[in-house]
Amino acid sequence: MRGAVIHAPGDVRFEELDNPKISRPTDAIIRTVATCVCGSDLWPYRGLEPVGDPHPMGHEYVGIVEETGSEVTHVKPGQFVVGSFATSDNTCANCLGGWQSSCLHREFMSTCQAEYVRIPNAHGTLVATDGHPDGELVPSLLAVSDVMGTGWYAALAAEVKPGSTAVLVGDGAVGLCGVIAARELGAERIIAMSRHESRQKLAREFGATDIVSERGEEGIARVKDLTGGIGADSVLECVGTAEAMRQALHSARPGGNVGFVGVPHEVQVDGVELFFSHVGLRGGPAPVRRYLPDLIDRVLSGRINPGKVFDLTLPLDQVAEGYKAMDERRAIKALLKP
Ligand SMILES: [Zn+2]
Ligand SMILES: [Zn+2]
Repeated sequence: MRGAVIHAPGDVRFEELDNPKISRPTDAIIRTVATCVCGSDLWPYRGLEPVGDPHPMGHEYVGIVEETGSEVTHVKPGQFVVGSFATSDNTCANCLGGWQSSCLHREFMSTCQAEYVRIPNAHGTLVATDGHPDGELVPSLLAVSDVMGTGWYAALAAEVKPGSTAVLVGDGAVGLCGVIAARELGAERIIAMSRHESRQKLAREFGATDIVSERGEEGIARVKDLTGGIGADSVLECVGTAEAMRQALHSARPGGNVGFVGVPHEVQVDGVELFFSHVGLRGGPAPVRRYLPDLIDRVLSGRINPGKVFDLTLPLDQVAEGYKAMDERRAIKALLKP
C-alpha cells in the first residue's frame, strides 16, 4: 500500500509502505475512505516540533473494516466505521469515567494518511454506522473523528451552557467546530476571533453571532466590550500558543471557564494571575470516543455539518500539496481520498 511519510520539515512524501497487519487480537485493519491533514500535523511540518526519523503521518480517519482480530466482535468486515485519534479499550476505569483519551491502554493514531490503517484497541475505539453513509456525509463523519469531537470537548470543558456567552480563540477547523458545539450546547452569544474573511464567513454560518478581528490586548478589550466589561462565561482555546492562551484567560470573566484543546507549545500559565482570575481551566486531548455515537447521529440527521471545514479535497497521492496548502493558509483543512 501507499501512504504519507514525513522526512523533514516541509518534506512529506507519498511512498510505498508495508501493508498493516493484525498484531493483537484487539486490532482491526480498515481500508481508508477518507483521511485529512490536521493543524497539529503542521507543527513538525513547520519545524516547530522535531521530526526525528522519517515516519508515517495522520490520525483522522473513516474507513471500511477489512479484517478484525479475534477479540473485536462489535464491528465486522464491510462496515463503515468512525474512530478517534486516541484509541481506547472503552472498559478501563478512565474509559468508564468518560476519559477515553486517558485510557490505560491508549495508543495515539499516527499512520492514517495511508490506504490501509491498523487500529489498535479497535474493540473499544471504532463505532460503525448503520449501512454505508452517503458520500456527501463522509467529510462530516471524518470531522467527528477529531476536529468536531475536539471542538465539542472544548465547549464542554469551558462549560458552555444554554444562554451563555462563548468566545472562540482560533479560527482553524477545531475553532470553527467549536462554534458548532457552542451553538448546539445552547450558547446565546458566540464570539469568534478571526482575521480571515473566509473563516469569519464559515464561523457565522456555523452560528457565531459576533466576530472579533483584533488580537492581543485589543482583542481582549473588544471581547470585554461585548460582554458587559467583564469577559465571557466560556472561552474555547483552540490554538496552543502562548498568545492564544493569554487571550483566552483574559477573555473569561471571573467564574468563567477556559477549555483548551490546542496542543500547548511554550505555553506558561502564571499561578498568581490564575489564582486571582477566578477562571477555571481544563484541557487535554479530547475524549472523542465518548461523543462519537451522539456526534455521528447529529451528522447523519443533518443537524450539524462540520465537514464544511474541508475547503480542499485532494487525492491521497497529493498529500504533500495538502500540507503545503494548509501551511500557506490557502486551505482551512485538506481532505484526502485514496
Ligand atoms: Zn487532528
Ligand atoms: Zn480504557
